Amino acid sequence: MKGYIGSVRFFKNLILLFVIIFITVPTVFAFRYRGKFKALEAETAAQMQQLNDKITALEAELAAPTVDPDGPAYQSLYPDFYAPQALDAKVHTDNTIYLTFDDGPSYRTPEVLQILREENVKATFFVIGQSDEASQQWMRDIVADGHTIAMHTYSHDYDDIYASVEDYLADMYEIFTLIKDATGVTPTAFRFPGGSINGYNYEVSQDIISEMLRRGFVPYDWNISSGDAASSDLTPAGTIVSNVVGGASGVSRGIVLMHDAAPKYTTVEALRPMIQNLRDMGFQFDCIHPDTAPILYSYSY
Ligand SMILES: [Zn+2]
Repeated sequence: MKGYIGSVRFFKNLILLFVIIFITVPTVFAFRYRGKFKALEAETAAQMQQLNDKITALEAELAAPTVDPDGPAYQSLYPDFYAPQALDAKVHTDNTIYLTFDDGPSYRTPEVLQILREENVKATFFVIGQSDEASQQWMRDIVADGHTIAMHTYSHDYDDIYASVEDYLADMYEIFTLIKDATGVTPTAFRFPGGSINGYNYEVSQDIISEMLRRGFVPYDWNISSGDAASSDLTPAGTIVSNVVGGASGVSRGIVLMHDAAPKYTTVEALRPMIQNLRDMGFQFDCIHPDTAPILYSYSY
């Protein structure tokens, strides 16, 4: 025994014993408490999930637009007719032109898109309600090219849409739904047929704007008219170009009103020289984004 203690074999065995202890004890311990750890882990995960759910619910509550219980009843109409994000349209970008096309899509849309593609210009299309397959495809083409698709009413019928706030909402909900279904995009910008204040809507205009703003939608008038709808005759392309160039000479940012309609081929003809002239004047082009500050005639906002 004396020879064994202190011998090389003794130390070898001692080390082996320690190694065995160091492996066995934690292993036994781990197996013994594995169930408990798992249970604790699951419990913690469940608590985290509950907290996350509470935060999500609170966030949704905070983000939800407020329906005023004492306000007009139309606030409760169409509970899914809301812009997907909070309204914060305050961005002014100088030396920028926003080309806009109303009343489409039409047979002219592919021609307009082709020119915009070649000129590398993004624009905004305020479309009306046409549910045929060709029109839906043109709407998808607008989106695929990176332009902004926006609402201009479904029917474009002044007597109908401006009869009351409820009538206006009913119509706009239709174009909102059509655009969403056809393109997958939720539109946030809109334009009043005839502008935000006109002979048909002055009695309801302010209420409509308030209600649309409450729902997160942003209205855009224009400060440069191409004059392509000035009369029932076609406006010559040269006149359209000079109207826009003239209008742009006095502004730092311009929203140009044009029309995308089958008979209006002079608008298409005017497009390329218009873009070139505006570029020569130092302008860049952009489409309307959800945060683009609107140009509005008639609403203090
Ligand atoms: Zn229009």
